[in-house]
Amino acid sequence: MADKFFLEVVTPQKAIVSEEIQSISAPGSEGEFCALKGHTTFLAALKIGGIRYKDASGKERMLFVSGGFAEVLPDKVTILAESAERRKDINIDRAREAQSRAEKRLSDKAADTDIVRAQAALQRAMFRTKIAGTR
Ligand code: ATP
Repeated sequence: MADKFFLEVVTPQKAIVSEEIQSISAPGSEGEFCALKGHTTFLAALKIGGIRYKDASGKERMLFVSGGFAEVLPDKVTILAESAERRKDINIDRAREAQSRAEKRLSDKAADTDIVRAQAALQRAMFRTKIAGTR
């Protein structure tokens, strides 16, 4: 069994994860990265996407993360996320509604539409829907 290390995922609202894990992969802004215990220290910005980790018992877990930062230390990974949810806590109907709103904004092309903001909302909604449907 892999050596364990600690994972903390926090948002401005609350702590989402605080537990021992065996491995993690996360959507870094420069690409997906993976870490095991003993990894070299580094800092990475995060994109919108999924965090996958193996908990202490070896079970695969999924989280949604909407960007933020990861600090990887040899014995601990800390994720400071703008927002994050465990897969089971994602409200799929809410995500679908957010997706429809964003798609409508992008297709209406109103002069005052903030395109970058609408695209980010669409990405969040699409990843939430995808992760909520992952087994
Ligand atoms: P919405 O338009 O539905 O608010 P959003 O992408 O703008 O979606 P965020 O700004 O990423 O929402 O998140 C705001 C708060 O709402 C966070 O605490 C986040 O965890 C929560 N949240 C947003 N969407 C969902 C969802 N589909 N299921 C569960 N929690 C959600």
